[in-house]
Amino acid sequence: MSGFVFSEKPVRIERGRGPYLYDDGGNEYLDIGASYAVTPVGHCHPAVVAAVQDQVERLMYVQGSYPVGVREELHDHLGRLAPGVVSNVWLCNSGTEANEAALKFARSATGRSKVVAATRGFHGRTMGALSATWKAKYRDPFEPLVGDVEFVDYGDSDAMAEAVDDETAAVILEPIQGEGGIRPASGEYLRAVREVTEDAGAALVLDEIQTGLGRTGSFWACERHGVVPDVLTTAKGLASGLPAGATLCADWIAEGAGPHGSTFSGGPVVSAAANATLSTVESEGLVENAAEVGAYLREELETTLGDDVREVRGEGLLVGIEVRRGANRLLGQLAMDHGVLALPAGRTVLRLLPPLTVDRSHADRAVSAIAEVVG
Ligand SMILES: *Cc1c(COP(=O)(O)O)cnc(C)c1O
Repeated sequence: MSGFVFSEKPVRIERGRGPYLYDDGGNEYLDIGASYAVTPVGHCHPAVVAAVQDQVERLMYVQGSYPVGVREELHDHLGRLAPGVVSNVWLCNSGTEANEAALKFARSATGRSKVVAATRGFHGRTMGALSATWKAKYRDPFEPLVGDVEFVDYGDSDAMAEAVDDETAAVILEPIQGEGGIRPASGEYLRAVREVTEDAGAALVLDEIQTGLGRTGSFWACERHGVVPDVLTTAKGLASGLPAGATLCADWIAEGAGPHGSTFSGGPVVSAAANATLSTVESEGLVENAAEVGAYLREELETTLGDDVREVRGEGLLVGIEVRRGANRLLGQLAMDHGVLALPAGRTVLRLLPPLTVDRSHADRAVSAIAEVVG
């Protein structure tokens, strides 16, 4: 399923530190894909490792009906970081589960069933989240999916206004589409969708699973556009590689959320890892670093690559490079010849989403390697 980059020569990764991964031969790789944005503070950050070690020795699990300090701390932490009113926190184990909860909560709170999603959107692979995911390749083998989902063109606010009505429970969108090719929505579009959903009494669900936690240069991508959703989902790097997700809800959603639950919701070890990750993002100024180094990286890519590529897109350290050839072959060359691990986003886009800890020298190394393979 994975391993596309190394189909001819498998690389076995043995350890990680900061932005680097090391294989079983001791070779070093710069992980500018951050293993799909799962390592915002870098691999095996000492603060996260220490928090996990400490918690593992203290308490690995107790049923969710007992209050546990680390979980309460994570609730407070996410509630404080949440944009505006979405300060009620539901914890789960992955991105798809966070979206699954978001769609269930929106249906329950509105008493409606219809969901509007976007072309090229990606929201996960369990049945509910998959139903709001666009790509036929992910959907077709599993049809029929959960019903009452309508897709409209991403970025088209007229189409959105037409689709959303008084039967709509939720609109679900990524502020920047990740899997769909690193496609940022304009602030104008997001504000229009906010208005349309508010008028219709439908929930606006923003999927910030790839864009959140500081990656785009603000803690959440929606903040830069002054848009506050009714539900915001996060996951991927939340616990630095331990399985974690969260669904952040406004009061009216939380109050009408209905019965939902999960055995491992807010488990102590994962919560400890998430608290340490969030604290590190804040204490090391990584949101500001993502904005600064991200702007530098995108500028260097544009000036260095020039006409060798079609376009450089993105915000902060979420960057897509639309290339003129198949992305997978380029990714293989980057890895094998330059020790640089990037990701695809569709067939013709190189995706860079490095740890938020990278500096200009890491950016320079990535840019010169990419220039060589696309040149
Ligand atoms: C990765 C991703 C998901 C799914 O998360 P999983 O943890 O793989 O279930 C959902 N939405 C977006 C935007 C993602 O990038």
